[in-house]
Amino acid sequence: MVEHMVSIEKDGAIVIANRVVIDGHSNVSDKVRVVTHIHSDHTVNLSMSIRNNYKLIGTQITLNWLPILGYPVNSNLLELDYGSRVRIGDLSLELVKSHHIPGTAQVLVECSDGSRILYSSDFKKPGVSTPLVNADVLIVDAVYGRPHYVRDFDNIIETILIDFVKQLLSEGGVHIFGYYGKVNEVMNILREGGIDAPFILPQKIYMMTRKAESFGPKIGDYVLAGTREASEIIRSRWYVYLDHTTRARFGLPNGASSIVLSGWEFEKPIKKLGPRSWHVTFSDHADFNGLAYYVSQVNPRAVYVVKARSNGAEEFASYISEKLGIKRVFVV
Ligand SMILES: [Zn+2]
Repeated sequence: MVEHMVSIEKDGAIVIANRVVIDGHSNVSDKVRVVTHIHSDHTVNLSMSIRNNYKLIGTQITLNWLPILGYPVNSNLLELDYGSRVRIGDLSLELVKSHHIPGTAQVLVECSDGSRILYSSDFKKPGVSTPLVNADVLIVDAVYGRPHYVRDFDNIIETILIDFVKQLLSEGGVHIFGYYGKVNEVMNILREGGIDAPFILPQKIYMMTRKAESFGPKIGDYVLAGTREASEIIRSRWYVYLDHTTRARFGLPNGASSIVLSGWEFEKPIKKLGPRSWHVTFSDHADFNGLAYYVSQVNPRAVYVVKARSNGAEEFASYISEKLGIKRVFVV
């Protein structure tokens, strides 16, 4: 059975046919590792893979963002476009687009007997902006794996965020905090929503943005934080400052507002945290209903739910075996 070609290690490393490993490190014969995107729970032990001279496969943007985030990538890289295939021994491997942060990919592996193994990686909007493919075996991270992890406003959150930022901008500068990659996605959303205030970006996000611009949409006016130009813009009180979520606790210039982006809220899209400080429920992950829909559409015979990157792995596994009738569901 094809599911015996899959093994998953405690840290979430996914091993296929002992030839290729995805989003973790393991000793595999072909010394190939796929990096589905740059988030830290998907780059576990990446330095070890690099030290052992593994070939890294990823999208152009993912592989170009890794050195900016401090990974000493060497020349053993293979940039793979969505929809292109590469052979690894008797396996054929393809990256399928995923709507999560820029560069994210699902991984589809076809075995010599034609059976298909799919790893979802992180995604949102399945069937809308994350394409759905069929597979015999699905490996999935149930990030919102409990049935009450549902956000009814997910499909309008972009508009809510745009309108809210416009409103706050009329009162002063706006500081937005989110994870790497998510802030890049948000920059695109704000520009598409007609917000043309200059962006101020700290070093890493600035460099990631420059790199992303060289492959994709232009971001318009943005400057590096800490420069004289940035200070002048901050004094003008018409700007959007985007920073990593861990810096949200630091003080803001007078009169500025702060928005923390996170999906961990299910009641409402905007919640006040304090004077001039808000939580906006903007997630880069499908909620429980989106996850279940994704699994139903992939229509696998067997599913692995990856414990290391799930919240409610067991509950999600019971749900898909009972409600979707999938007989072989493993939590690993
Ligand atoms: Zn992610």
